[in-house]
Amino acid sequence: MRWSQMFVPTLRDDPAEADAPSHRLLLRAGYVRQLTAGHYSLLPLAVRVRARIIEIIRAEMDAIGAQEMLLPALHPAEPWQRSGRWELMGQEMFRLRDRRGADHALGMTHEEIFATVARELNSYRRLPQQWYQFQTKFRDEPRPKGGLMRTREFTMKDAYSFDLDGAGLDASFGAYHGAYTRIFERLGLPALACEASSGTMGGSDSTEFMCPADVGEDLVVHCPACGYAANIERATSVLPAASDAPGPAAPERFDTPGVRTIEDLRAYDAPDDRQIKTLVYVLDGTLTLVLLRGDHPLNEQKLVDATGATGIRAADPAEIQDALGALPGSLGAVDAFLPTPLPVIADEALRGRRDMFTGANTDDVHLRGVDVDRDIEVGKWADLREVEAGQRCVRCGEALEIRRAIEVGHIFKLGDRYARALGVEVLDPDGKRVPVVMGSYGIGVERAMAAIIEIHNDDRGIVWPLAVAPFQVTVVVAQSDDAEVAEAAEDVYAALKGAGVDVVIDDRAERAGVKFRDAELTGIPFRVTVGRRGLAEGTAEVTARATGDTEKVPLDAVVAHVR
Ligand code: ATP
Ligand code: MG
Ligand code: MG
Ligand code: MG
Repeated sequence: MRWSQMFVPTLRDDPAEADAPSHRLLLRAGYVRQLTAGHYSLLPLAVRVRARIIEIIRAEMDAIGAQEMLLPALHPAEPWQRSGRWELMGQEMFRLRDRRGADHALGMTHEEIFATVARELNSYRRLPQQWYQFQTKFRDEPRPKGGLMRTREFTMKDAYSFDLDGAGLDASFGAYHGAYTRIFERLGLPALACEASSGTMGGSDSTEFMCPADVGEDLVVHCPACGYAANIERATSVLPAASDAPGPAAPERFDTPGVRTIEDLRAYDAPDDRQIKTLVYVLDGTLTLVLLRGDHPLNEQKLVDATGATGIRAADPAEIQDALGALPGSLGAVDAFLPTPLPVIADEALRGRRDMFTGANTDDVHLRGVDVDRDIEVGKWADLREVEAGQRCVRCGEALEIRRAIEVGHIFKLGDRYARALGVEVLDPDGKRVPVVMGSYGIGVERAMAAIIEIHNDDRGIVWPLAVAPFQVTVVVAQSDDAEVAEAAEDVYAALKGAGVDVVIDDRAERAGVKFRDAELTGIPFRVTVGRRGLAEGTAEVTARATGDTEKVPLDAVVAHVR
């Protein structure tokens, strides 16, 4: 590849609109351009990095026996209606009608669609199956941000496991857990495997892979000593123990059945069949639980959308009360409003955090009093109490950290929910029809690209790990108007190419300084400079991007040197 023919529109200055280092660098180094908020065009260098990330993920998926497929991005409403998620996904789902008036969605995930294919499995003899794809997902994010970090269309590697029973699912889940650990290691992402909640996927168990970074939108509790790690969303979904000081009384206009304190909350029995959800806010460093009651199944996403749409900011409890009070009836009624005097989990870390912990639901820790104690995972809760009390982990007594992190991957045990809803059944060894047990496993490809940059950059630009770099080497022709230099550089370039090295030659009619700056900005791991001075003694300079170290290397030894 010749730099003179490539489209790499680097910018001299930092773009004003960039809100994260990776966003700034992707724009400045000529990797991406924004079409509109949340939609980016990937330029040639970005496409190369994306392909390398995909290669690594694919290799690890294939290594655990997963099979690549490709399912449609446009879905009829029917399977989504059958699973109940046509409703549940709320405004995050892009919807459209075809010319016949039939409802469709742009796929935001593919559990339902893979399940339709899995109907043909039929017999336990065909299980387990591991299926995956790289496919564009569409999500109408309320706040796209951070360049490629949170977009409205992105490539996901999504995988799905199909097993006969829970033990099979455990084995599948374990295999993906291992594969993800290897993938993130190869990508240069120091991801922590965190206990997490399952959100709108449903299911019993989920692990998020979280890459610590200042621009991360999630918070994770982590003990470096013993490795305990959990998303704080999950953490705050566990109800606190009784607190001595009762919170302020809930406002009259809410239908509050005598719930004033956390103790009341624990003892609370919903008056009818309806479900209860808790939204957790942080108001000036105080955790505040808001209980909402809704029809079954309570539409959490809708609630979140609606409360989000009201523009609530974590400033004023009264503001939140007003906004929640104004929600349309079908979305749920406010049962209780409980500003708790809970000592705050890492006050500092939470400041500036997005105002609402969505998905902090009580699906597991049920509010029907009797179940509360049984369902709380005591170890987890105890860990968190320790965070509040002294920032020590109960498992090992060492200090806990709370860190911002980017969710780069997420794996779920789904159970048989989708199989039941969509009729994915097999004959078991006794000839009985049983629903299959599913898992789902996602990695955001472009988000991974952005996260890698967040971890690997310096004041001169991106510093790609070799495994994902767009090119391994750039050969810089220091004086492009010197025929002898140009010829020697072409020879080095040809030798590298012949040896299978991914190489570009910077043959532009530019000053060497410009080429050096672009090589650094774009993050190419090795720069081989061929110039007049070195040529006189038969050498080139090899500079490593990561360390800045430069070595003189005989021209015929360059290939060996960069490999
Ligand atoms: P988030 O909490 O950041 O919104 P999510 O929990 O909604 O992410 P999942 O449904 O778990 O995401 O999807 C699997 C993976 O897809 C995520 O771990 C992330 O890497 C990626 N991903 C999700 N949403 C986006 C997005 N809007 N832009 C880019 N990548 C995304
Ligand atoms: Mg999301
Ligand atoms: Mg998430
Ligand atoms: Mg997730």
